[in-house]
Amino acid sequence: MHDEKNIERAEIVTVGTEMLLGDLVDTNTVWISQRLAALGVGIYRHTTVGDNSERIVAALREAASRSDLVVTTGGLGPTSDDLTNACLSTLTGREMVEYQEAREHVDTMFERFGRTPTANNYKQALFPEGTQLIPNPVGTAMGALVEWEGTLFATLPGVPTEMKSMFDATLEPLIRARSEGSIVSKTLHFAGIGESALVEKVQEFLDATDPTVAPLAGQGRVRLRITTRAATEREAQEKIAPVEKEVIARLGDYYFGEDDETLEGAVGRLLQERGATLTLAESCTGGLLAKRLTDMPGSSAYFGEGFVTYSNESKEHLLGVPHAMIVDHGAVSEPVARGMAEGARRVSGADYGLSVTGIAGPDGGTEEKPVGLVFVGISDSEATFAEKLDLTAWARSRDSIRERSANRAFDLMRLRLEEN
Ligand code: ATP
Ligand code: MG
Repeated sequence: MHDEKNIERAEIVTVGTEMLLGDLVDTNTVWISQRLAALGVGIYRHTTVGDNSERIVAALREAASRSDLVVTTGGLGPTSDDLTNACLSTLTGREMVEYQEAREHVDTMFERFGRTPTANNYKQALFPEGTQLIPNPVGTAMGALVEWEGTLFATLPGVPTEMKSMFDATLEPLIRARSEGSIVSKTLHFAGIGESALVEKVQEFLDATDPTVAPLAGQGRVRLRITTRAATEREAQEKIAPVEKEVIARLGDYYFGEDDETLEGAVGRLLQERGATLTLAESCTGGLLAKRLTDMPGSSAYFGEGFVTYSNESKEHLLGVPHAMIVDHGAVSEPVARGMAEGARRVSGADYGLSVTGIAGPDGGTEEKPVGLVFVGISDSEATFAEKLDLTAWARSRDSIRERSANRAFDLMRLRLEEN
């Protein structure tokens, strides 16, 4: 492309009336924003606009007045409410013309699906004059790259799988090529510490401008993203390394991994390194821990079985938790959490037992045992212990209590494995 301006500021415009009506959650904006942020591009605004030509043109014009890059999603289909490229033509004053390559792409994709295109479908071969096409390996809609008055427009389809593959294959390399030097970004993951406590320990790095360090928090975990730009990727990595080292040193055990690492991933990795196995005894999480473990390919190496013991009877019959213990302390108690972890380990023969019992709400809480009271138990050949979690602050969200309980359980398991 000509007029190669650096890309520093970007905006995202998602097109679709479904989003305005609340029928569709705009996940594209979230995904693209994360990608752009990781590339070191500043995001200036998010706009959602309905399938209306005038308003789409206005949104594009406004975005172009502020930003170097405008990424749109949606409205690339063959029907009359798919308007994005035509609006780009109106804005730029460049005629819609047929692109032979795009026409052939429509034919190829239809052949692959075993269908015959109608005249309508060839609308997807029309783009503003001077467009550079963005290949779409998954669907019929190619995207457009259009340079206009110092702004680069990139139109992508609404369907997330198509949008993502096109972003990765075409847009990301283009943004990298148009950035001065190389942008490298690394994410460090922490658990067992709140965002503000964590930030306090590394405040000066957050105040620094190069590398930048940005915190992101959610469901009992905190991430720090370190980003920098340098002439080469290697140089960028060399700038990140000392910051990363110091941040990890200050946060010690709270650190559990980088980039795509998850808490269950850390647990799985440690189990595998030790050649050990894990079993689960879940009450209020109802199988969430088992789901997250088995979401990972290769988990059969360390996970053979887990128990969902929701009722008191099942805790007794399947795990051998003594009846009297449940009567005396209640199912949500430290002794029962220990009993569940130990029982699951004994019954399954696994090296480690991990249990969760708690009150996820919204009902079922009492003054003594409020919604959000959770116990996590761990049992191995050396010890059996439990930790009490106070998640009462999230009493209004059952999902949140379950998610946070699972996170804390995996984190305690990770810490135990790191000790052994
Ligand atoms: P199509 O060729 O399928 O018509 P399109 O590019 O015209 O694609 P839309 O019609 O706007 O895209 O959206 C198609 C589908 O993609 C929507 O029904 C929705 O499921 C999904 N989608 C669209 N926009 C978004 C978005 N911003 N976030 C998440 N999903 C989206
Ligand atoms: Mg459509």
